[in-house]
Amino acid sequence: MTDCLFCKIVAKQVPADIVMEVGRALAFRDINPQAPTHVLVVPKSHYENAAALAAADDGLADDLLKACHAVAVQEGVADAGYRVVFNTGHGAGQTVFHVHAHVLGGRDLTWPPG
Ligand code: IMP
Repeated sequence: MTDCLFCKIVAKQVPADIVMEVGRALAFRDINPQAPTHVLVVPKSHYENAAALAAADDGLADDLLKACHAVAVQEGVADAGYRVVFNTGHGAGQTVFHVHAHVLGGRDLTWPPG
């Protein structure tokens, strides 16, 4: 999608601090981190949100979740505990409409989230 920020990051047209590229997924640091580890994991292909990704049902959602865990291990936060968040839709705070998982860790994470 030509006007999508995360498609541009995938295409390396917009710079990002990439921490992992595995198969059909790319992981890069959030520009406005909310925890010591805050990495976004995106599919290289464009889906608007998690619902659209799940509806595609081609195994990509599995790949994305595995990539999230691999990022947590690489970042050293897997044992202490980490959070994977998909904000889905305006009401949930989604601002970039290319599905992305937030992988958050490195501090105590409270519940419920705000
Ligand atoms: P959302 O609110 O769940 O859609 O999350 C979008 C995230 O993208 C936010 O946490 C932003 O800080 C992050 N973000 C926006 N632009 C960039 C960028 O250019 N590089 C990395 N992260 C970004």
